[in-house]
Amino acid sequence: MSLLPRPTAHTDALVLRTWPCGETSAVASLLTREHGFVKVIAKAARRPRSRLRPLIEPGRLVEVEFALDPARELQYLRGGSVLLDSLGAEPSLERSAYLLAALELVDRCRPAAGMSAAQSGLFDVCEEFIRVLDSPTCPQPAWLFFRLEWRLLERQGLAPRIEACAGCGTAVGEIAGAPWFDAGEGGLACSDCAAGDGDRRSLSGDALAGLQDLDAGRPEPPARFETSAALRREIGGHLHRFLGYHLPGYRLPTALDLLRAGKDGG
Ligand SMILES: [Zn+2]
Repeated sequence: MSLLPRPTAHTDALVLRTWPCGETSAVASLLTREHGFVKVIAKAARRPRSRLRPLIEPGRLVEVEFALDPARELQYLRGGSVLLDSLGAEPSLERSAYLLAALELVDRCRPAAGMSAAQSGLFDVCEEFIRVLDSPTCPQPAWLFFRLEWRLLERQGLAPRIEACAGCGTAVGEIAGAPWFDAGEGGLACSDCAAGDGDRRSLSGDALAGLQDLDAGRPEPPARFETSAALRREIGGHLHRFLGYHLPGYRLPTALDLLRAGKDGG
């Protein structure tokens, strides 16, 4: 038996999900800056005075220290500090829903184990999302969320093709008639290419412009996005269908269902 001390990792992390374990402990799923997805066990963290307890609240950005043993599925959380608690300051229903939806999305759409390029930098994408969402000058939370969805797809090499028909490559300006959005084809599609299956949806000019802005990485939403709930719904619908088609097991995050229910009710 080795007496060497176990290596310790110090890294920033985003708490994605937490669940109870045993009488008083908890397990948390983290996305870390330096080690990708890591599951930690926080011993006795469900006791009221536990110093580990604040480090495993979903949605928090934390700095953590844990034993790093690649042979184990669970790493021991040792300590750390909270960097940002964006749910702590009573955000609007909309902001909390998008934050929770983002946690669910990231947890669900993990790049496959071998895709190190897709994993590296994933934390930075999520950190930016959370910091912007938390800032008082946050533009439309919906736009921010759509950008996150787009960037997650991009990292897996799956971003929708928008500048030309994904089937035959005809440039967007040269497509006869209105282009379609077709998840099965991989993005924009001309009438000929979109005719083959039931995945095509009509695409308004404003939604096409919005998708082009997402593709270009524009931080600000287009002007009509602010005022048109129909446009937000259309872009969101295309993205959700696309994610559902290309990422096995994806479904609309529960938090967005709640948001929708809240809006319908009020
Ligand atoms: Zn085509």
